Amino acid sequence: MERIYLDHASSSPIDSRVLEYSKPYLADVGNPSSLYEFGQDAKNAIETARKKIAEFINAESEKTIIFTGSATESNNIAIRGVAQRNIKDGKKLLSSAIEHISVINPMKHLQKNGWIFETIPVDKYGVVNIDILNKKISNDTILTSVMYANNEIGTIEPIKQISEIIHKKGKYLHVDATASAGKIPIDVQAEEIDLLTISSNDLYGPKGAGALYIKPGVKIQSVNPGGGQERGLRSGTENVFSIVGMGEAAKIAKKEMKNESKRLQRIRDSLISEIYKIDEAYLTGHPTNRLPHHASFRFSHIEGESILLNMDMYGIQIATGSACSSKTLEPSHVLLAIGLKHEEAHGSMVMTLGHTNKLSQVPKIVKATKETVKRLRQLSPLIK
Ligand code: PMP
Repeated sequence: MERIYLDHASSSPIDSRVLEYSKPYLADVGNPSSLYEFGQDAKNAIETARKKIAEFINAESEKTIIFTGSATESNNIAIRGVAQRNIKDGKKLLSSAIEHISVINPMKHLQKNGWIFETIPVDKYGVVNIDILNKKISNDTILTSVMYANNEIGTIEPIKQISEIIHKKGKYLHVDATASAGKIPIDVQAEEIDLLTISSNDLYGPKGAGALYIKPGVKIQSVNPGGGQERGLRSGTENVFSIVGMGEAAKIAKKEMKNESKRLQRIRDSLISEIYKIDEAYLTGHPTNRLPHHASFRFSHIEGESILLNMDMYGIQIATGSACSSKTLEPSHVLLAIGLKHEEAHGSMVMTLGHTNKLSQVPKIVKATKETVKRLRQLSPLIK
């Protein structure tokens, strides 16, 4: 059975060119902190990767980039490091209501320890409510975190407009760009972003690496002290293989993103127009201002986990917003934030396209979706 992988937002397979490039650093590599030549080779390879990441997001220089182990770790270092370092200027933290749990949970952790944390609501498409952001931001707001685009519903946020508002009164803007990096261009200088998270495995790089951009002048302190690697902000021996691969993946993405995104957008639009024809099928997220590889839906009367398992029987891997990260049956906080009722939020299906997907796969995906929805509705106790 042909496998059709449609879950690139949770992880994208490593690009064969990236694997070839970084393979030498998997088995035979010194510690980048060691001064002998063997160690310095590894250090140089990391510095080359750092340059590629800086170029990828148009950062001021490679000195603004630190490598971490994942997007989750980058988010934690950004949020906790900035909150702790800037405590004298205020204790207020904001985020959009639809952030990934790796942003929400560090914020909640700080809240338990005396910081004030509030979320900014979004509209029915998942776009941050600018008026409420304007009202909530105050001189003691030291950090606001808004994602570049949402991984569950694909909506792209107006980051430039948000950064202008934040910088009028508040201090720093952190942007989680994990879902959008490599899909749409990011320019940290033009968009006036203070801290930005990206991850390797969402870019066709190896798992086990992330990066955090920190604008020159941003005050941040270490939250995991140790040997002092990565400007003291992420101590611990570097994962050279994954970092080298991440740099190469970013270089390839920068070069190929425009054409690849155009190609994926055609497949996405075809999927959306066909799946939309299913009775009581609704698109989630913004109809036009959404990631080019992202198609997300909800279906009445059925449940996301059953959709996922049924689609898997056709060899098609999708995601569902309902229980993917939390391993609970609680509906996704993202779908609740866009105004869906609990029962509506349960029937969600998320398809994220990538390198291996082709327009010719659309009929098979649509047929599997139609049959899955029909079968599950026949069994559904929610239909009288
Ligand atoms: N942020 C976003 C927007 C994500 O989609 C994800 C998951 N791919 C993460 C953060 C966390 O990534 P990881 O589990 O690789 O740390």
